Amino acid sequence: MIINFFKHLHTVNKHRFIVMNLCFKLGLYWQGLTHDLSKYSYIEFFTSVKYYTGSKSPIDKEIKEKGYSSCWLHHKGRNKHHWQYWTDFYHGEVVYIDMPLKYIKEMVADRIAACMVYQKDNYQPDSALRFYLNSQEKLFIPKKTSEKLLSYLTIVAENPLNKALEMIKADK
Ligand SMILES: [Zn+2]
Repeated sequence: MIINFFKHLHTVNKHRFIVMNLCFKLGLYWQGLTHDLSKYSYIEFFTSVKYYTGSKSPIDKEIKEKGYSSCWLHHKGRNKHHWQYWTDFYHGEVVYIDMPLKYIKEMVADRIAACMVYQKDNYQPDSALRFYLNSQEKLFIPKKTSEKLLSYLTIVAENPLNKALEMIKADK
């Protein structure tokens, strides 16, 4: 428990540090500084410590065991860089709202950083793109948002990282 406490703390700090650097290169200074701060909240932090694995997100493990993740429900409701933040359910239907561009850009930084932290030396420029293409989530993201996300992840896969970030920053 105590070991996982420090390991998880290290993972979160490392992730936030990489996202901060990427966001700064995207011109997103405030988002870079405040990215994922809710991970230090009691519910997100201690649930993640409990389901810590080191090789992937503790959320996946919590979902496997419980069928849902209390950590994720807390997280996605507070962090605008997740497309799930922009969904709701009313009048019997799921409502999808297109994400503002600056949060799509932060989402790209988040995905690159997550791949870097979990894949370590195996990280490749197309890691985040491949993860996205292999996921089911792409079926649910609203069209405008998913097209933008796909185009950004493709830019990242096909260009040196700094060049890719410059191109994404310039996209208005
Ligand atoms: Zn997040």
